[in-house]
Amino acid sequence: MRLRMSSMVFAGTLLLATMILLHQLINLPTDQQHMSHQERQHMSNSERKEMGVLEMRLKRLEQDLQYNQKAIGEIKSLVRQLTDSANNINDGANTVLEKSDKVFPNKFDRKTVEGGGKDEGNQHGDGVHTVGKVLYNTTSVAKIQQDDCIFSQTSPMPADIQMQNVYDLLPFDNPDGGAWKQGWDITYDAKQWTPDNKLKVFVIPHSHNDPGWIKTYERYFEEQTKFILDRMVEKLSVDNKRKFIWAEVSYLYLWWETISEETKTAVKRLLDRGQLEIVTGGWVMNDEASSHYFAMLEQMVEGHEWLKNNLEAKPNNGWAIDPFGMSSTMAYLLKRMGFENMLIQRVHYSIKKHFAKEKSLEFKWRQIWDTGSTTDMFCHMMPFYSYDVPHTCGPDPKVCCQFDFRRLPGSGVTCPWRVAPQPINNLNVDSRAKMLLDQYRKKAQLYRTNVLLVPLGDDFRYEHADEWDKQFTNYQKLFDHMNSHPDLHVQAQFGTLSDYFRALREESQSSTSDDVGLFPSLSGDFFTYADRDDHYWSGYYTSRPFYKNLDRVLEGYLRGAEILYSLMLATQSSLEAQQPQLTNQLMKQLVEARRNLGLFQHHDGITGTSKDHVVIDYAKKLLVSIQQCQNVMQQSANYLLTFNQRSYHAEGTKVYYSLDETYEEHYTMPSKQVIELHEGQASHITFYNSLAQARSELVTIRTSSPYIQVRNEHETPVRCQVDPVFEDEGTVSSSQFDVSFVITAPAVSLTTFSVQTVAPDAVDTNLISYAAIRVRNKGGVLPSTPAVFTDVAFASEENGDMVLKNSNIEAILNTNGFIKTIKYVKGGKSQKLDIEFVKYGVKNHRETSGAYLFLPDKDAVPIDMSNTLLKVIRGPLLSRAIVIIQNVAHNLLVKNSPGVDGMGLDIVNIVDITKERNYELAMRFYTDVQNKDVFYSDLNGFQVTKRVTYKKLPLQANYYPMPSQMFIEDDHTRISILSKQPLGCASLRSGELEVMLDRRLNQDDNRGVGQGVLDNLRTPNIFRLLVEEKLINKESHTSRDGQAAFPSLLAHGAVHSLLNPIYTLIQKVPSPGRQSWLLGGVLPCDVHLVNLRTMQNEPTPAAKISAASNAALTLHRVGFDCGFAAPGLNCSTNGGKVRLEDLFTAYYSDRVFQMSLSLMYEGVEMTKSYTLSLQPMELYAFKLQRL
Ligand SMILES: [Zn+2]
Repeated sequence: MRLRMSSMVFAGTLLLATMILLHQLINLPTDQQHMSHQERQHMSNSERKEMGVLEMRLKRLEQDLQYNQKAIGEIKSLVRQLTDSANNINDGANTVLEKSDKVFPNKFDRKTVEGGGKDEGNQHGDGVHTVGKVLYNTTSVAKIQQDDCIFSQTSPMPADIQMQNVYDLLPFDNPDGGAWKQGWDITYDAKQWTPDNKLKVFVIPHSHNDPGWIKTYERYFEEQTKFILDRMVEKLSVDNKRKFIWAEVSYLYLWWETISEETKTAVKRLLDRGQLEIVTGGWVMNDEASSHYFAMLEQMVEGHEWLKNNLEAKPNNGWAIDPFGMSSTMAYLLKRMGFENMLIQRVHYSIKKHFAKEKSLEFKWRQIWDTGSTTDMFCHMMPFYSYDVPHTCGPDPKVCCQFDFRRLPGSGVTCPWRVAPQPINNLNVDSRAKMLLDQYRKKAQLYRTNVLLVPLGDDFRYEHADEWDKQFTNYQKLFDHMNSHPDLHVQAQFGTLSDYFRALREESQSSTSDDVGLFPSLSGDFFTYADRDDHYWSGYYTSRPFYKNLDRVLEGYLRGAEILYSLMLATQSSLEAQQPQLTNQLMKQLVEARRNLGLFQHHDGITGTSKDHVVIDYAKKLLVSIQQCQNVMQQSANYLLTFNQRSYHAEGTKVYYSLDETYEEHYTMPSKQVIELHEGQASHITFYNSLAQARSELVTIRTSSPYIQVRNEHETPVRCQVDPVFEDEGTVSSSQFDVSFVITAPAVSLTTFSVQTVAPDAVDTNLISYAAIRVRNKGGVLPSTPAVFTDVAFASEENGDMVLKNSNIEAILNTNGFIKTIKYVKGGKSQKLDIEFVKYGVKNHRETSGAYLFLPDKDAVPIDMSNTLLKVIRGPLLSRAIVIIQNVAHNLLVKNSPGVDGMGLDIVNIVDITKERNYELAMRFYTDVQNKDVFYSDLNGFQVTKRVTYKKLPLQANYYPMPSQMFIEDDHTRISILSKQPLGCASLRSGELEVMLDRRLNQDDNRGVGQGVLDNLRTPNIFRLLVEEKLINKESHTSRDGQAAFPSLLAHGAVHSLLNPIYTLIQKVPSPGRQSWLLGGVLPCDVHLVNLRTMQNEPTPAAKISAASNAALTLHRVGFDCGFAAPGLNCSTNGGKVRLEDLFTAYYSDRVFQMSLSLMYEGVEMTKSYTLSLQPMELYAFKLQRL
């Protein structure tokens, strides 16, 4: 009842607020509407400025209105639901919440951890520990509300253009188009422009500054970027007709530290005047293939927060001219951040040509899963080959290059088309203006309006004063000439992206009464990019995989640290016992990690397309940040586990816990810490679950003794398996042992276990199992092993040694130790799953594979997988096979866990191809799944899209990014590869799944980096493989039209657990702390806690970085396919209902603001008790205020 009342009051307040806004809206623009065109032209500067301010306000108000309308819609639907539930018509929001209260220990309780009881019973229930015996017979299954299955079965709103159809249609031929090589000879009728219908040209000066590529981020800044920005202030101030746009906030930040207060004021003035526009405003211009949406969001939020705190600027237009292929996830994120428009450049030349023909280069980009059109994002696609000056004024680069005045004779830069620019003077201005106008007019034929966008810039442009002068003065002469000749029917000027899009929307509105009514909608994405011929940029999906893996490691640590840190601060606030020094010290480390992760999302960072020394620079930054996040994590955990938090004595440099994964060098894999056990003394290990759902998982710690007892947080001994640690092929360590056991961790919790030694003869054999070891080696001698391992023998197929199994599955291996079949214990179904490692070579051409391009010589050939060295280590909790072949140590793990990690196979390949030459290594599975030419891969870990393998395209074109997963399926079965790291993937023939693991290339591929890829390292590739049977009588996503597909809830859970593992903190300082701590609330199965991020205060001279009193909560309600069972999960779905009060009972004030996704705009205010209704696939951000 309380919920209902507060919602009604809330709705009322909102309606009132909206009416006020509406009133303002109606009043505001009237002056503007009644003003004639001439009157507007005769406005004074101050009037125009005022006008600009009014327009800005109007836009803001419109935005607010949109938000409010959305909120009102949601409230209306909630009121409807509540009324229904009051009438007992259906299961409304209230009922759902009451139910979930009973299912989960939802109350704030710091003393005990409940909810693990069920599995506990099994752990020491039957006391059986023989190999293969069922230990966990009651795997929990997620409880799914029937209505939550509707979304994945509903057809999306069809878009006018669907990229899949475009791919079906296009021949992907490559005829020579003449001057515009990849297009055609454009003609036009000059009569289409009249005095009332002029061509409006906006020339947009820009400078593309890569934060790291040939030089490091800092060196670029020192040697180039800072001069560009200095000159920008100086040269824009000369004439207010001059404009400039800037994208990379990482550089603004470095520059801001070096400039005077006067310069800062000047920059703000340029922004206010609309001479300077910050576009996108991310920390970097992120890659869109390998990046995960967590990091994309993170780097955007970091950029926008910096802009807000330092410049009071809010970007409104996206600008992505260089990422190598474009993802629809980016369009979604920008849309939900409150952006109105975006621009993209690197799209396959055949698609550009097709869109140019259809005048579809400007479109409303719709998400493939959108059942309406609320995700529509207005997008401008550049039509030609590049974003440089020769390819932006019009179709003929030979002509356009002559209007790049940076290349005037004597400058040292020339035009490759061998016709140099001429300085504009009275004698040549008429002919030069007409020559340029001809290009503008031709380019305008490719678009639907008479408003034309012409970028003017290139990489690191506008560095020297004379470049500014040359470009701006020569162009101004051309514009003045054009504009003063009415017969030319053109209005040309410098502009920003805002200027362009504003004019474009006005024109669309005047002809269709809708400001984007002229344009088609489009669904799909723009992978795989080709810039010419068969040069597909699918190599970079995999280049430098070591660092791609390190990226995901940092993402996991950063997310984990952010959440724990925010909750530490929230606890301090609720106790009114702040620790400002500790807080700000850790905040600095977090902010540095955000920025270092952000930096690596750059399109030459995570892509692996920088020079070696730049790669090392990124890697060092990632490493430092992993270490710092580990520190934030352990400091926060120590605080949260302290009994008396009110009188906590903070020591910021102390190591209370060390993470069991040690990252020592930026070029080595982590090492596992050994817990040194001393007789009679227990060691404590705290497990951190950062997910907002309870989870059971198998964990492995490394101890110095095999004679142990492990107790859980209730002091109950738990079942363990002790495995040998191999030092090399022949020796097993006698001082290190891997100890595995299952832990059950509540949502967002810390749980402390203890481990202690026992006398060898006192080991409880009901609880401790020592693994059986089977080997096949070169010497024919069994390795010497510590005495605890009594079952050591040579591997023999007859004895069933080649089977790894748990309660659910059996993995049947071939003679060489590789998987060939997976068999399900229940139902006994088998699935062929033949693994093969294959290699690609390079073409013997001038153009060869490199960091960007994948140009294979032919289909891959298998590498030698016979005469392998083999180890099989099996026990009741964990079975694994380790097969050594040339270049790969292949580990297959079967975990006997009741959680998601027990539902599939884990694959860990340690790859080392440093001895090879022009060699690309892939892992391929052959199955019986009849997927024909269709497979699925994800975009940024955010959504899954259909991919079709086309025979009309070369092999490399059929490779796609795999940021987190791929799957194939038929009517019965789906087989998924879930990936801890982004790589390239394909399904080249029916039944096949293929993932590229590493690439070593001895030459450059002519895309600017100027080197091959020869810095390969010993690299981990970590995967989880799921074989899922489709449920009978349930429709799966295949009944759905279109491109979108959805992982099962199990697959979602398995990916989340790969990317956000349970962190193991080893206690270093004896502490009388609590055994456990937990947040108290849980989220439904399908709602992911993306982040809980403490925001920053505006910088002051005393504190550049300090923690603000609020935190940004980001939630994602995933879309999932109900056609599969959801074992291993201990959670429910409830129609996306979330009450923040249940999640943060004891933390944060009652006032909550729903925010735009990057926190730029404050949306509706609500109370914590308000029941949110999250829509499938959508991301939400909230601003929480500490108490
Ligand atoms: Zn770039």
